[in-house]
Amino acid sequence: MPKILYHRKAAVNIAAFLWNNIFQKIQKESELDMSRCCQNTVETDTSETLCPLCRQSGKGVKLITLKSLLKPSSLAKLQPKLNYSFCSTSHCDVVYYSELNTFRMQDLKVPVFQKDDGSEVPVCYCFGLSRASLISEAKANAIDFIREQVRENRCGCEVNNPQGACCLGNVSHVVQQLGMK
Ligand SMILES: [Zn+2]
Repeated sequence: MPKILYHRKAAVNIAAFLWNNIFQKIQKESELDMSRCCQNTVETDTSETLCPLCRQSGKGVKLITLKSLLKPSSLAKLQPKLNYSFCSTSHCDVVYYSELNTFRMQDLKVPVFQKDDGSEVPVCYCFGLSRASLISEAKANAIDFIREQVRENRCGCEVNNPQGACCLGNVSHVVQQLGMK
């Protein structure tokens, strides 16, 4: 084989090798981008998480919260493979909903802070602070008290609070309304 042809063949092989590598890299990166893009779409797409009754957007809630707080007869209707959301609309009777079924206030063992303005309804479920107890002078530093419990990792909002998340925002709101801080 003439030397110049040999070199040309080697150059073509190297070019093909490089191109394949670059092409594969581009392909992998675009696949990654697509998966990120799809995840973002799911996370920001609120149309699928609208409460079927009030049509407001709800927040995803873990299954353990429903398992902890549904009454036995309602728990028997839970479909663990579905994704459930929490509806926080005060005038809406639906507490949890999914594509196929909903659970209403009567399905829960506890009253729901956002939907029941009774004085004995818990604001902080873990440590039993109701609206009434927040009014009492002794609980005026409730926010500091709860912050301390959070710091010490004593909170169990996932299994105690129907919203499945920290109550601190609710406590702050009630305390502000009471003009205590
Ligand atoms: Zn609702």
